[in-house]
Amino acid sequence: MDFKNTNDSVTHRVRAFTERVARLKENDLYYLNMPVEEILPDSKVLLRGHVMGMYASYSYLGLVGHPRINEAAKKAIDKFGTGTNGVRMLAGTLTIHKELEETIANFKHAEAAVTYSSGYVTNLTVISSLMGRGDYVFSDKLNHASIVDGCLMSGAEFRRFRHNDMEHLEGLLKNAPADVAKMVVADSVFSMDGDIIDLPKVLELTKKYNAWLMIDEAHSVGVLGKTGTGIEEHFGLGDVIDIKMGTLSKTIPSVGGYIASNKDIITFLSHASRAYMFSAALPPAQAAAANEAFKVILDEPWRIEKLNENTKQFIGGLKGRGFDTMLTETAIVPVLCGDDDMAFAMTREAQHNDVFVLPVASPAVPEGLARLRATVTAAHETSEIERAMDVIGAAGKKLGLIK
Ligand SMILES: *Cc1c(COP(=O)(O)O)cnc(C)c1O
Repeated sequence: MDFKNTNDSVTHRVRAFTERVARLKENDLYYLNMPVEEILPDSKVLLRGHVMGMYASYSYLGLVGHPRINEAAKKAIDKFGTGTNGVRMLAGTLTIHKELEETIANFKHAEAAVTYSSGYVTNLTVISSLMGRGDYVFSDKLNHASIVDGCLMSGAEFRRFRHNDMEHLEGLLKNAPADVAKMVVADSVFSMDGDIIDLPKVLELTKKYNAWLMIDEAHSVGVLGKTGTGIEEHFGLGDVIDIKMGTLSKTIPSVGGYIASNKDIITFLSHASRAYMFSAALPPAQAAAANEAFKVILDEPWRIEKLNENTKQFIGGLKGRGFDTMLTETAIVPVLCGDDDMAFAMTREAQHNDVFVLPVASPAVPEGLARLRATVTAAHETSEIERAMDVIGAAGKKLGLIK
C-alpha cells in the first residue's frame, strides 16, 4: 500500500516515527523490538545468535520457566483448553480464576481480589470506574502511563504532584473542595527511576484529607518486603492501602493485572468496570501460572535475599565506576546518560558485548535525563553481574560518559 497522498496530521505523525527509526537503524543505534530466540537459565537469552546477559527483564525473582509454574500452566491447558471464550460475568469465569483471586487476596492481606487481562487495562478501567466528573484525582508526576490514562479517562479533576513531593501533594489536597471524592494514586516503585513512594507520609495525608489511596505495585511485588509481599511489608505497615493494584507480568511470569481491596470494592469492580464486563477472561494457563507463582514466592524466600544482594552489587558497582544511578533503591537501575544519543550509543556498545540493556529516551523521560534502564534479577550470577558492569564501564569510558 502506498502512503496516502495527503499531508494531514496522520501523515506527519507517522512520518516523524518512520524517519526517526530509519535514522537510528542507519547508525546502528536501534535496539528496540528485538526478537529473543530463546530464554536460557541464569537470566540469559539467545538473541541474534548470541548468548547475552539479560538486563532489561522484569523477571525480578527469576521465576520465568520455573518448573512448578510451567507444570501448573500445562495442567490448566489439559483441563480447560487455551482460551476462555467469554467475559468473566458471562461464560468466562473458571474455578482457576477464583483460586487465583483468593491467592492474591491472601498474598496481599486483603479481603478480596479481582483480575483483568493486563496491568495497563487494570489501571485504565479501575480508576475510571471509581472516579468520575467532579471528583479529584492526585497523581505523582512520574506515575506509569496506564495511571495517567486512567485518570484522564475518568473525567475527574486531574492534579499532578511533583515526584514524591509530599508538601506539594498536601497543598493540592488542601485546595480541593472538602465535600468531593478524592483519590491519591502512585507507583510503589517508580518504573523508570527505581525509587520508592513515601508511603507512610502519603497514608497520613490521605487520612487527614479523607482521600482514597491506590498504589500500583507492578515493581514491588516480589521485590519489596522481607517475604516479597510488597510496599506495606517494606514499611512495616499492615493492610493500609485501600486499592492495591498489581500486574501478573513482571515478577509473576504470566500476564494480567489485579486489584486487591475490601469485599465491597471488589464486588463493585466485578460488576461495573468495563474491562471486566467487555473483555475476555484471562486464559487458563496464564491464570494457573500466576496462581502458582505467588505460592513459589512464599515457598522460596532465598530468591528475595539473592535479589537484594544482586541489587546491592549492581548499584554499588555502577556507582563505584563513576555512573549516576539517580535515586534508585531497587532492582530498577537507571544509568544516567544525559542526551538521547549518548543513551543510544551506550546501548550499542553494551549490546555488541552481549549485555542486553535498553535505553529510555525522551519523551518517556524528561529531555536531558536519557538513560540506560537496567534491571537486575535474582537469577543473575555474581560473576555475570561483574562482567556486565565491566562492559558498561568500558562503554562509558570509550564514549566519555565517565572518566
Ligand atoms: C508494567 C506496568 C504496568 C502495566 O502492566 P502490564 O501488565 O504490562 O500491562 C502498570 N503499571 C506499572 C507501574 C508498570 O510498570
